[in-house]
Amino acid sequence: MELISRKDVPVEQTWDLSLIFPDEKTMWEALEETKKRTAAFVRTYAGCLNSAEKIVECLDEMEQILLQIGRIGSYSGLALETDYTDNALRERDAKVSDELTKLQSAMAFADSEILLAPEEVLKAAAERASGCRIYLQDLMARKAHMLSPETERVLASLSMSLHVPYTVYNTMKLADISFDPFTVNGKEYPLGYSLFEDNYELESDTDVRRAAFRAFYDTLGKYQNTTAAAYNACVTQEKTMAELRKFGNVFESLLFEQKVTREMYDRQIDVITEKLAPHMRRYARLLGKKHGLDRMTFADLKIALDPEYDPKVTIAESHRYVREALAILGKDYEDMVDRAYRERWIDFARNIGKSTGGFCSGLYRQNSFILLNWNDRMADVFTIAHELGHAGQDMYSSRAQSYYDANPSMYLIEAPSTMNELLLAHYLTQTKDDRRFRRWVLSSLISNTYYHNFVTHLREAWYQREVYRIIDEGGSVNADVLSGLFRRNLELFWGSDVLIPEGAELTWMRQPHYYMGLYPYTYSAGLTVATQAMLRIEKEGETAVNDWKNFLAAGGTKDPAGLARIAGFDITTPAPLLATIEYIGSVIDEICRLTEEIDGIQA
Ligand SMILES: [Zn+2]
Repeated sequence: MELISRKDVPVEQTWDLSLIFPDEKTMWEALEETKKRTAAFVRTYAGCLNSAEKIVECLDEMEQILLQIGRIGSYSGLALETDYTDNALRERDAKVSDELTKLQSAMAFADSEILLAPEEVLKAAAERASGCRIYLQDLMARKAHMLSPETERVLASLSMSLHVPYTVYNTMKLADISFDPFTVNGKEYPLGYSLFEDNYELESDTDVRRAAFRAFYDTLGKYQNTTAAAYNACVTQEKTMAELRKFGNVFESLLFEQKVTREMYDRQIDVITEKLAPHMRRYARLLGKKHGLDRMTFADLKIALDPEYDPKVTIAESHRYVREALAILGKDYEDMVDRAYRERWIDFARNIGKSTGGFCSGLYRQNSFILLNWNDRMADVFTIAHELGHAGQDMYSSRAQSYYDANPSMYLIEAPSTMNELLLAHYLTQTKDDRRFRRWVLSSLISNTYYHNFVTHLREAWYQREVYRIIDEGGSVNADVLSGLFRRNLELFWGSDVLIPEGAELTWMRQPHYYMGLYPYTYSAGLTVATQAMLRIEKEGETAVNDWKNFLAAGGTKDPAGLARIAGFDITTPAPLLATIEYIGSVIDEICRLTEEIDGIQA
């Protein structure tokens, strides 16, 4: 399909950024106002943070400035996300970002100066604080790991250089790498990063799919040494930081911000690797049989079970589906869904220069904005439900909490979103009494929701842990080491049921997440809590719904274990994870049963 220019997109398919500022002029005025306010902030508080009263006052004022910075940054940044080919938007955003960075660094003195105050002053401040209490407590907890103000200043000024490994990775991936077309049975096919990930990996023609796989990994291989060097620099730097900041090891340092114990982190990786594998291997065997493959390989894992069955949907229908599926969460949630469509929070359009994929960006005590690339497919409805899950959390937590406390630890960030995918699937299975449709819904849950969060990202997590173990012992990694680890990783999980072809070990080159700390494992952690909450809602109704909404509203006021307790689960024990894996197994059982009934094929 030919992509259109942004200017030709119908307005009803775009989001309405005038919900933030009525026009650009107002945004510039707000920026000027915020600059003045920040200058006054520096004049009032720099060198004066010596009493509990002043500290609280300072953090409360900083909250108001940060909030305004967020709104200005969103207005400019979100516009650019819809068209990176628009030079005016690009220049405007560069200017706005530059101004906002200056404001943030002007306020950076506050943290280190607050920590210079005597212990009893800090305690007194935390006692009288309301919105900034947890911020202060976190700051105090970080004190043991802070360096002298001068060293912190030097490190802050080096922050751009410390991001170079990630910049190198992205430059390789987005600018340098180029794929030659490949040929199958005399026909030539174009190849590119997103063409491979969004199309060829899911292609049901086995010859095309496997040829694309070989061509993709052949090209990737040419960039492996640069990529490995960038990655080694990144993890070595994290190790150095952990040592400088007096953490016991690099894991402790990376888990500190997430407020997660090492046990909770390890459990997620070990239990899923061991106990989910038999279920996923059975699903892989079923895929192989259904598609009549000689041998199931790593290149075949993402194909749909029933590719001819792909329900089409219009945007208007998506509204009805999502509203009805999420109505179980109550009238206010339903109203939010209606507002999202009516007030144009969602950018549906597909146009030249727009960001790929989807995301949700929330504004404190205002609405959220959702970027999509709408394709008329039921899979897009799942994406909307997912992103509205983030919007729902933003709505409840920003109503109830301060700006500082609105967001939970990264560990649970994907719980509200994946919950909505599960609720949509649950709802869809009840709308139609049709076996093929039911199998389509259930296999979407396995091949999208669970595969993405419990397999793709979890294999990354397993590999990442091995890398950090090497680094922690003072070692380093190169392309051969990384490929060796990744091959072992895939073979461990898929056993003899899935052949890991040559090239697949380079899968370590495909993820930007490795440059963001211990991120990959959190996908499965969020979905574990979501799965348990969905099953509880199915069984208990109202009480479980209320607990879930209290969980959402709690934002970041507790650590992940404390938040999960509000939803009704103890994630310090393995029980929720084991029950989730059992649930995944039961869904795969049902898919197998349906396939036997519909096609007479046994897994
Ligand atoms: Zn998400």
